[in-house]
Amino acid sequence: LSQLFRPLDLLGMVYRTIRQGLIDMEAMFKLVDTPQEVTDRPGAPPLQVTSGEVRFDTVLFGYDPGRTILKGVDITIAAGKTLAVVGPSGAGKSTIARLLFRFYDVTSGRILIDGQDIAAVTQDSVRDAIGIVPQDMVLFNDTIGYNIGYGRAGATQAEIEEAAKGASIHDFVLSLPEGYETRVGERGLKLSGGEKQRVAIARTLLKDPPILILDEATSALDSRTEAAIQEVLGEISRRRTTIVIAHRLSTVVEADEIVVLDQGVVVERGTHAQLLAADGLYATMWRRQAAERKTEGLGVEDVLA
Ligand code: ATP
Repeated sequence: LSQLFRPLDLLGMVYRTIRQGLIDMEAMFKLVDTPQEVTDRPGAPPLQVTSGEVRFDTVLFGYDPGRTILKGVDITIAAGKTLAVVGPSGAGKSTIARLLFRFYDVTSGRILIDGQDIAAVTQDSVRDAIGIVPQDMVLFNDTIGYNIGYGRAGATQAEIEEAAKGASIHDFVLSLPEGYETRVGERGLKLSGGEKQRVAIARTLLKDPPILILDEATSALDSRTEAAIQEVLGEISRRRTTIVIAHRLSTVVEADEIVVLDQGVVVERGTHAQLLAADGLYATMWRRQAAERKTEGLGVEDVLA
């Protein structure tokens, strides 16, 4: 009898593989909205992560030949430390994250992870080492359990629940009509910005990467949700090399180092206290935000960029 079912099994498997491929592609394009422009060099070895140090060495980059976006960026993030990138809108903050994930190759200079040029190792191995908590998470039209479990192929239900607890979303999931089996996404239950962000965090916890990119949401969350999410993010970035693309100042104060980017150039760097003392662009942005907080009675929602 099993002979009879084997072709059917195979068909099912092919179907699932194709479906997964389509979902992955959809996720890829929606999440990052960039075409695949990078190919591996023949015989490229995989990245070997030892401690997770990240270094940008004189990185020059433009999306189009006529326009340079990053004009010689030097950044080093020691293993396990947190670097925040701030600066006006269009300065190139998100571009830094896209280059680290190797959606594009740099025009000149190098990006190194533990001393290895990411352009010389396989893309897959670079992406395996990095978790992204994006600004605006796109959910798959599937169950919430699937959406969390996507962080690691073959994750068990217990592991999924563990990750959900880590992201403070487990209790919320249990309160849904069908728990982890509840369908979400465009054709299912719509989740709020904060809930989606927690799904992204749970997914990242499952993936357990040594390097983390936090692309802070530009849209405002209410300050209680924001504070709760900050706490979880602080927790998951503690043991990981973290780069925070900050559109607001809320995560920045605690960072080990802040770089201020303006028109593709690092114009200031230091800790929050050092940058306030330097009384430059960062201090100006900080004061402006403080004033906005006062006049508008806003919490952490103030937009930096
Ligand atoms: P914001 O705070 O507004 O998100 P940012 O500092 O993150 O801004 P980037 O998204 O890195 O800025 O964009 C830097 C510059 O690169 C912008 O001028 C933008 O128009 C340009 N840019 C971004 N993505 C592309 C792309 N895919 N193709 C061409 N130009 C792009």
